[in-house]
Amino acid sequence: MSDVMRISASNAAAEEAFARPGIELEGKRLSEVLRDFPLHAAFEKAIKDRQTSEVRVEIVGGERRIYDVMVSPLGLSEKYAAIGVFYEVTRVERLERVRQEFLSNISHELRTPLTSILAFVETLEEGAIEDEENSRRFLGVIKKNAQRMHVLIDDISELSSIEAGNVEVKIGKVDARKMAVELIASLSALAVGHSVDLSTDIAENTFIEADSLRFQQMLSNLVENAIKFNRRGGSVKISCSVESDQYVVSVSDTGEGISNEHAHRIFERFYRIDKARSREVGGTGLGLAIVKHLARLHGGEVSVSSKPGSGSTFSVFLPKH
Ligand code: ADP
Repeated sequence: MSDVMRISASNAAAEEAFARPGIELEGKRLSEVLRDFPLHAAFEKAIKDRQTSEVRVEIVGGERRIYDVMVSPLGLSEKYAAIGVFYEVTRVERLERVRQEFLSNISHELRTPLTSILAFVETLEEGAIEDEENSRRFLGVIKKNAQRMHVLIDDISELSSIEAGNVEVKIGKVDARKMAVELIASLSALAVGHSVDLSTDIAENTFIEADSLRFQQMLSNLVENAIKFNRRGGSVKISCSVESDQYVVSVSDTGEGISNEHAHRIFERFYRIDKARSREVGGTGLGLAIVKHLARLHGGEVSVSSKPGSGSTFSVFLPKH
């Protein structure tokens, strides 16, 4: 249709959303204000056919905004009018996209080990079971993949409990040196396996305020990464400084480092710089997301500074109470 559709009335919210400062919407052509073909078609349908319809409109240029618009014919007497009610759904749409991405990541991450388990079970069924040496090796692969799925499911449920607000932090006094020393002992086998040296320079009687279990979990995730992404013969050091308003606990490594491009993304769920490497060292891609959430639950933050090629330092900042 070639008839021009003009805006005859609008409320304050519409003015704010669509009008340029100082210019009213009233009297403007619809196409001048919103260039969106489906929206125009919906208004035409309402005016000409007296039919209500709903369209999704995306406004680009500046901040991206998305609206669900219900367009209906206006009254019976005003034959050539229609009203469009705009519901902004930008945030809902973003959340929905994040949720879908998360689900598709989870399915992908679970499918990879599962495919491998099924393939090895089938090979065994097809006769490999008779060959003792191979069947033991295949069982080993099946077990490794099943364990991978286990760790992944543990991390997913941990993350979803934190996000659902079901994890409470109980702040108490934590002996930072004692915790670092205990962690070094419990991760010594992993460190030896990667030929990495673990140490701490935290002084005796350095106390911080944190939830002991959750703090241990954060530190353990950071030290495990520092070992796994290190070089052979490299080292990891755990430090702690008590500042006037906060505690800073740092884990430094001599690994490959992280470039700026990746540094701000590695705390996202499932973000990995090198997927194959992360899988090979047994990562789920959720460790740092868990650390970030736990640090925030403490009212703190986590950050990374790195020199690509020579190592990274992850620091957890916890407020003093
Ligand atoms: P993953 O299970 O893969 O370790 P994380 O969430 O713990 O998942 O880490 C995400 C990614 O960040 C890792 O895959 C790796 O690419 C990078 N990364 C984490 N820690 C380090 C580190 N100390 N040195 C270099 N890269 C790291």
